[in-house]
Amino acid sequence: MKKLFGFIIISLVSITTQAQKRPKLVVGIVVDQMKMEYLYRFESDFSENGFKRLMKNGYTFHNAHYNYMPTYTAPGHASIYTGTTPSMHGIVGNDWFHRTLKKDMYCTDDAAVSTLVPGTETEGKMSPRNLQSTTMTDELKLSTNFKGKVIGMSIKDRGAILPAGHFADWAFWYTKTGEFISSDYYGKKLPTWADDFNKEKNYIPYTEKGWSLLKPKEVYNESLPDDNPYEGKLYKKTPFFPYNMKEMLDNNDPGVIRVSPYGNNLLADFAKRAIEKEELGKDEITDFLALSFSSTDYIGHTFGPRSIEIQDTYLRLDETIADFLNYLDKTVGKDNYLVFLTADHAGAENSTFLKDNKYKVDNINYKNVSADLKEFSKTTFSDDLILKYDNFNVFFDLDLIKSKGLDLTKVKQSFKEYLYTKEYVKRVYTEEEILAGSPNDELLEFVSNGYDPTQNGELYFVYKPGYLEYSATGTTHGSPYTYDTHVPVIFYGWHIKKGESHEKKYITQIAPTVSQLLKITMPNSTKCEVLTELFTKKE
Ligand code: ZN
Ligand code: ZN
Ligand code: ZN
Repeated sequence: MKKLFGFIIISLVSITTQAQKRPKLVVGIVVDQMKMEYLYRFESDFSENGFKRLMKNGYTFHNAHYNYMPTYTAPGHASIYTGTTPSMHGIVGNDWFHRTLKKDMYCTDDAAVSTLVPGTETEGKMSPRNLQSTTMTDELKLSTNFKGKVIGMSIKDRGAILPAGHFADWAFWYTKTGEFISSDYYGKKLPTWADDFNKEKNYIPYTEKGWSLLKPKEVYNESLPDDNPYEGKLYKKTPFFPYNMKEMLDNNDPGVIRVSPYGNNLLADFAKRAIEKEELGKDEITDFLALSFSSTDYIGHTFGPRSIEIQDTYLRLDETIADFLNYLDKTVGKDNYLVFLTADHAGAENSTFLKDNKYKVDNINYKNVSADLKEFSKTTFSDDLILKYDNFNVFFDLDLIKSKGLDLTKVKQSFKEYLYTKEYVKRVYTEEEILAGSPNDELLEFVSNGYDPTQNGELYFVYKPGYLEYSATGTTHGSPYTYDTHVPVIFYGWHIKKGESHEKKYITQIAPTVSQLLKITMPNSTKCEVLTELFTKKE
């Protein structure tokens, strides 16, 4: 009897472990422009059920970074999901200069596809075609014989399309018409539930509420006072609370919700609808929902990292995440889902704010940099040898240089010397130096990791730390410095033990780690550096 009882127990255990081989649902959360610092600075104002639930019950990597430049949105999302850097996956910027076409290419532009929603013809010509590597979502598709569902969604097109990968069931992104749209790369028509969601105009109740502070004003003492000189205007309105969103909507279009915390709420509403109607996480075959919250980036750019607007946005996102986790508990079941949370890049301090506090840095106007380079070219070579200056890259007019009988190496050298006379320049590299690399130059390594010779320029330069190519208000990102590279990496849920690490990690480790947890093939061009902390036994 005892023997038989033991046998039954063993069989039960083996059945449950069989069923638990993979989680039912993976939820990848990217928070656009989220600095690691926000988790610390706003900690005392967060609830127990949002960010803190993930940190306290999951595994937090406190010292995780980007390992390339430029630290922009499209390269960030592509790198998280492919587990490699732009030099391999080809997404070298949000856009880049196309040498043969002599025009800018947008990262997810695809002339061969069409929108599924009338009135969004331009916004809908998008697909992951320019992404050269497979993603962890692609590998999940292959591994489940295309049975596991993969859906990506974001307010931004690139935040939805790149994470969802090449084999996705759907990617959805928001447009100024107030709708979540998609392209015929994914299907012939929008799913009925998405169409219904759009018809409900769910942005209206949010805009009618307006944007005022979530908590009493005293709570915001971790930020600078409201209406400070480092904040930019929001749709012409001076930057202080409350914001009349209804008026903003009436004078503009439903795109206004992007630059308010409600862009995040709307995305979470849409995500819940997708989980319900697409039955994500319902059967035993793993599904993947890639979520990217974009409003944090729009608000960061407008008001800067020390504004109460950004603090309020994170306090509200904390509630949104708490509510979403609660929803997952109820629909998918507490131990059946795996979550990771990270950011596509962090963000800089406002340079005027630093200057006012005696650290002498500056904001640089992109147009002035471009004009200076062209001016130098005309006076030195009596011709404009520059096709384009963009994203730290200088693209030379190679045909003109050849026809003038100039030596390209000498031309590059001369521009390099000129750039080094500029106060804002830290390093200038030529294409040859970037491709050769140097183990002793960490900045060069960042540049090399972000560089593709067919998509980047012949000369590349790096600003000094603290210098921004941006307006005097708000902030931006793009540099290889810690203020842009240091982001949260938190794992939570299915088979994740509690813990934390302060060792230096790279965000390119996320995709191979998730692949290893799911026991699927790793994305095809990752270096396969797994976060081994997650695989040692639970203490
Ligand atoms: Zn971004
Ligand atoms: Zn303000
Ligand atoms: Zn941004």
